[in-house]
Amino acid sequence: MKRLSELTLDNRFARLGDTFSTAVAPLPIAAPRLVVASPAALALLDLEPAAADDPQLVAFCAGQQPWPGAEPRAMVYSGHQFGFYNPQLGDGRGLLLGEAVNAAGERWELHLKGAGKTPYSRMGDGRAVLRSSIREFLASEHLHALGVPSSRALCVISSDTPVWRETEERAATLLRLAPSHVRFGHFEFFYYSRQPEALRQLLDHVIAEHFADCLAQPDPYRAFFDRVLERTAALLARWQAYGFCHGVMNTDNMSILGITFDFGPYAFLDDFDPGFVCNHSDDTGRYAFDNQVPIAHWNLSALAQALTPFVDKDSLLDSLKRFLPLFRGSWLELMRRRLGLVTAEAEDRERVQRLLQLMQGSAVDYSRFFRELGDSPAPAALQRLREDFLDLAGFDAWAEDHLARLARDGEPDEAARRARMQAVNPKYILRNYLAQEAIEAAERGDYGPVRELHAVLSRPFDEQPGMERYAERPPEWGKHLEISCSS
Ligand code: AMP
Ligand code: MG
Repeated sequence: MKRLSELTLDNRFARLGDTFSTAVAPLPIAAPRLVVASPAALALLDLEPAAADDPQLVAFCAGQQPWPGAEPRAMVYSGHQFGFYNPQLGDGRGLLLGEAVNAAGERWELHLKGAGKTPYSRMGDGRAVLRSSIREFLASEHLHALGVPSSRALCVISSDTPVWRETEERAATLLRLAPSHVRFGHFEFFYYSRQPEALRQLLDHVIAEHFADCLAQPDPYRAFFDRVLERTAALLARWQAYGFCHGVMNTDNMSILGITFDFGPYAFLDDFDPGFVCNHSDDTGRYAFDNQVPIAHWNLSALAQALTPFVDKDSLLDSLKRFLPLFRGSWLELMRRRLGLVTAEAEDRERVQRLLQLMQGSAVDYSRFFRELGDSPAPAALQRLREDFLDLAGFDAWAEDHLARLARDGEPDEAARRARMQAVNPKYILRNYLAQEAIEAAERGDYGPVRELHAVLSRPFDEQPGMERYAERPPEWGKHLEISCSS
């Protein structure tokens, strides 16, 4: 374990040169204080939980004191936003400080979000508000705990620095961790700005750092695309299986590592509603829950386009064909586990689809259904859950088939099956209204609720006596919160 002062950074991305990023010093925020920190994220840097109480952490993250070895840089990228190409995006309010290597040899990049203006800020002020920083913090750490790959969040710092959104708010910063901050949009930038040599340099860098196994392949660039595609398919399988709606799947928000990245107006489904649109600026429903898979595929084709100078087009098209089968296989596997099944039958896909249709027709709470299914022996659990469905005949037929399916599944030990189910079906899920309550308290200066919520959500599968209120159905007002895109 290290003390905070012993953590030194090294920014290797900066050494790629000014074509890829620009040196920018963070602009300090006033009267900074720690809102919440993640012990699990601190541990990634070999820091003890007590590092959160070190005033230096606040000074580093408020931009008041430089992190030893840090070389803050704003990265340039572009991307397709809502289907349209925007030639110039980039880190408009976040800076890549550098990377830390932990005792396990893992490299974690530290990125300070809300650090002030950069050459890519366009009309923005370079700041992040407290509510959006808390939302990103909670989601990053909760997704990770759910087993969904995500960028991580080490802490949120609040301040007295005013920022103007729909109304006056306070500036905050968030310290994000990820092995790489390279997005699909990075490749699009160098492709569309016709800088093939820079594009190749970026590819070589990313492959050497994060996809070294591709170097042994006959065509490392194509192998790289295949890996990104595989990871993205696995990510989408998890989003869809756990009811996570990202909300802004622009190509600049897609990580090449296949991790959940750049949180905006995301939401976990409460009632099962496949057409749910969590981003209230998304008028056409482009990023609706049930459109996330085709959009991920579309985003991969945008990445493929950017690789055409180096990879044969037909090979890329062949690779793209693998996406849907990979997604479907991975998703079905997760859904089987959520239902407590260990074996596979050809009709399982229809079984799951039928269940989802029944849920949709009755506005059944998506997360609670699976958790309750494992709370008691299957016949009793199904009897209890039946009350939530409107189409009783439909549900009875499904339940009868499910019991027969379980009998064929060959797990004689009912308790063991239920324990397996509870390990994949969260009791606690980050519902929008829970985040909202914690944010409102934090905006009043009370950080207790966000800290407690974070602690509960970092063990989503565990029974946590005394915390049951966090596992309840959302109140009616909490189901239809409109989350603004402004952040
Ligand atoms: P996002 O919607 O957060 O993914 O951001 C899209 C682009 O806008 C990125 O280039 C961001 O860096 C930039 N951006 C978002 N908010 C701000 C802000 N307040 N100040 C400067 N740039 C911003
Ligand atoms: Mg973004």
